Amino acid sequence: MSAATRSSNDPLIHHWMPFTANRQFHEQPRMITRAEGVYYYNTRGEKLLDGSSGLYCIPLGHGRREIREAVAKQMEELDYAPPFQYGVPTAFRLATEVAQMLPEGINRVFFGGSGSEAADTALKMALAYHRARGEAQRVRLIGRERGYHGVNLGGMSVGGMMPNRKAFSTGLPGVSHLRHTHIKENYFQMGEGEHGADLADDLERFVNLHGPDTIAACIVEPIAGSTGILVPPKGYLKRLREICTKHGILLIFDEVITGFGRTGEAFASQTFGVTPDIITMAKALTNGSIPMAAVAVKDEIQQAIFEAAPENGIELFHGYTYSAHPAACAAGLATLKIYREEGIFDRVKSLTPAFLEQVGSFKDVEGVVDTRGHGLLGAVELAPKGKPGERGFKILCKAFERGLVLRAAGDSMVLAPPFAATPDQISEMLDILRKLIQES
Ligand code: PMP
Repeated sequence: MSAATRSSNDPLIHHWMPFTANRQFHEQPRMITRAEGVYYYNTRGEKLLDGSSGLYCIPLGHGRREIREAVAKQMEELDYAPPFQYGVPTAFRLATEVAQMLPEGINRVFFGGSGSEAADTALKMALAYHRARGEAQRVRLIGRERGYHGVNLGGMSVGGMMPNRKAFSTGLPGVSHLRHTHIKENYFQMGEGEHGADLADDLERFVNLHGPDTIAACIVEPIAGSTGILVPPKGYLKRLREICTKHGILLIFDEVITGFGRTGEAFASQTFGVTPDIITMAKALTNGSIPMAAVAVKDEIQQAIFEAAPENGIELFHGYTYSAHPAACAAGLATLKIYREEGIFDRVKSLTPAFLEQVGSFKDVEGVVDTRGHGLLGAVELAPKGKPGERGFKILCKAFERGLVLRAAGDSMVLAPPFAATPDQISEMLDILRKLIQES
């Protein structure tokens, strides 16, 4: 019987799952009922290692008491207040703490509820900034092939994943895409590749084609995550920065995955030594416990927008009902405290070399066509068997039976271990993956 004609008593059909093969899931559900530390538990009570930190969002592991208690306390005191024209103290505290972690100069923080909201907010802020400075003609947005900036119309448009775009019209007009940086010359190189910094010159080509004063912003993930951990070549981000500066284009780094320690510094901007104008973040901001995202901008961006607004008038006609939600702010403050007090980003630095070495060692496994990674983000790409992505998905399903939750980006198997994992737990994740690849 097809899913469409099932009786409404079927417990699975009413929940339309996101980015999921729903019909396949109905036949082979992968239910998770509980989690603790770096483990999930299935309906039979069996343990599964969390190889992807949830969706890159729960680096401290599951069930941190301090976060839970901070949220509960906040909910008891103040569960909600309208974020438009009213403020809650925790939001101001969290913004200040985030600003202190950001690269110098990026220090005004706007809250939203998801990475998708953050991406669209960042793009709108860039447009508003140029308009405020009398450059309303700067409306072109530059994204990148194989980029992912969420699913809202702006983020989808600058994103570069065909299946995410093609069912939903053409996206916004006036968008150009840089080429992606996953080039053969860098295959099997862990860390930044030696080749391909000049791919950033695509931006210069768009300037030559459209005119320098027509481009508002260029948005990239420092490391493209959702399309399989594409690490930038050496010098690439610096070159993008130079071209943006030369032509007055705002550079946006989408750090929704890389933000809060994934590469060993608070932000990948710091790891790569390149400071953008705007940074988006989400996920690890609250250790995945309560949805929250943020957009941080240089103060001069905020200043320009403020100055253009009527005195005592609203400066930016933008915001969400759940911007700066008190429970999320409390979760954020508790999370950042743990990062600080437990030296979590230094722990990432100490776990990284062995992790990357182990990912790199998949080079010798038959059918592996590339290995790559940076910080605690690693990918093993396989030669497809059947349709593209089929092999990766089969491994993901098998892994669930063998005690591992991971990501498959097409036929690239992605691991993003929690920072709380021990070296042995990380090795175990990689051992399970190795066997599954050998059997696939
Ligand atoms: N940007 C990047 C770089 C992401 O990785 C993601 C999610 N994986 C998003 C934006 C969208 O975040 P969300 O799913 O919270 O909307």
